[in-house]
Amino acid sequence: MYDLIVIGAGPGGYVCAIRAAQLGLKVGVVEGRETLGGTCLNVGCIPSKALLHASHMLHEAHENFEKMGLMNAHVDVDWDKMQAYKADTVAGNTKGIEFLFKKNKIDWIKGWASIPGAGKVQVGDTVHETKTIVIATGSSPAALKGVTVDNDAGVIVDSTGGLALPKIPKSMVVIGAGVIGLELGSVYARLGAEVTVVEYLDVITPGMDGEVQKQFQKVLVKQGLKFVMGAAVKSAEAQDGQATVTYALKKDDSEHQITADVVLVATGRRPHLDGLGLDALGVAMTDRGFVKVDDHWATSVKGVYAIGDAVPGPMLAHKAEDEGMAVAEVIAGKHGHVNYGVIPGVIYTTPEVANVGLTEEQAKEGGRKVKIGKFPFMGNARAKAQFQGDGFVKLIADAETDRILGCHIIGPSAGDLIHEVCVAMEFGASAEDLALTCHAHPTVSEAVREAALACGGGAIHA
Ligand code: FAD
Repeated sequence: MYDLIVIGAGPGGYVCAIRAAQLGLKVGVVEGRETLGGTCLNVGCIPSKALLHASHMLHEAHENFEKMGLMNAHVDVDWDKMQAYKADTVAGNTKGIEFLFKKNKIDWIKGWASIPGAGKVQVGDTVHETKTIVIATGSSPAALKGVTVDNDAGVIVDSTGGLALPKIPKSMVVIGAGVIGLELGSVYARLGAEVTVVEYLDVITPGMDGEVQKQFQKVLVKQGLKFVMGAAVKSAEAQDGQATVTYALKKDDSEHQITADVVLVATGRRPHLDGLGLDALGVAMTDRGFVKVDDHWATSVKGVYAIGDAVPGPMLAHKAEDEGMAVAEVIAGKHGHVNYGVIPGVIYTTPEVANVGLTEEQAKEGGRKVKIGKFPFMGNARAKAQFQGDGFVKLIADAETDRILGCHIIGPSAGDLIHEVCVAMEFGASAEDLALTCHAHPTVSEAVREAALACGGGAIHA
């Protein structure tokens, strides 16, 4: 008899299992994939960051080496080797989770699970008894009407196929200007593909701060990406190794076509709950097909919990991890907590884009009086030395209390810089607290301090 069986070994599930084992519980994890780590390690965060890193290096060699006196760098791309580097990066990480499972005496139950009843998890013909169950089965790419994905053929692909194309395409259409589409689109643009992004809305990366959206799109256009905005995709048809996308512009309903070597469908993800038997078990679901949970990640069935992409909230690895740790604490009879107001989001393009907390628009819609401190990376010595002066830090603080409400960064290392603001927000800090904190010179982090200064007396270098 297990204390806990976790279904799914993604960042939610494996972190939950490790914390539960550290708290003294007997834990098993069911994973149907050949390797641990879920979407994130196998076909998500990690392989995409490997390709972003490699293609960024290429971009640096082509665009910036000569400016620094590094002459005659001639860099050819060996796509098979780049794929091998990506695979090694993934394998190193997934094996690392296997090691951690062994270290923490967690059983990896291999296969696909269903839940025939509370306290029971079935894998193949074996039914495992357990006191509690955590559903951490993650998500899979959402289907788009009129478009059939075939990752093996490599012409109309989703993010999984997009990470493992047989060759670098000369042209690519990305359907959807969200995080995944823009990250992969910029990888292939840097590798030489002509990339066109077709987006239904009039803005990219919906939900992000408006000023950042505009600046981000400008930068991507400068990098060669093309955008067709306000366009509803009707269909995509593959023929003779290419695909034609048909879309209608919302403004006048006119129909257009665009043909490319590869079409990447990146229109979002949906919770992956197939085959678990949740209907028969009587687990309540949300209108949008997520597992409904309370403040302690408990489902409507006693002893069954759910976390990560399977439940509502941002579909992010670190959100899943935090819920994994917290639900393990709850199951072990302790207190588990996730502060949903301080979950950063990062886009790992160059420049990086990062955000936490309220956008200016959200703060205003909520009727809050805010003050904005903005600082451009052009005023930051380190960023300029690295040819990364595009972008800015925008800090949002309450107009009366000076408490930090949010931060939006587009610029070098934005994905790392955002965390000093996260810590400040966790401690309920004011913009002045950040402004009075000494930041080492020359670092790009000085731009965050300058934005905090701009919330008060004024930035020094602007
Ligand atoms: P998952 O990671 O999806 O893991 C669920 C696991 O459960 C899977 O391994 C699956 O095989 C298994 N499973 C499902 N059903 C069963 C069953 N019945 N029995 C047994 N096993 C089962 N997020 C970030 O925070 N940062 C990023 O940079 C980032 N980049 C991404 C890039 C791409 C291309 C993609 C697709 C996603 C990216 N994400 C990123 C999102 C991130 O991958 C997910 O938010 C995260 O993996 C969710 O974790 P999870 O544990 O909920 O589920």
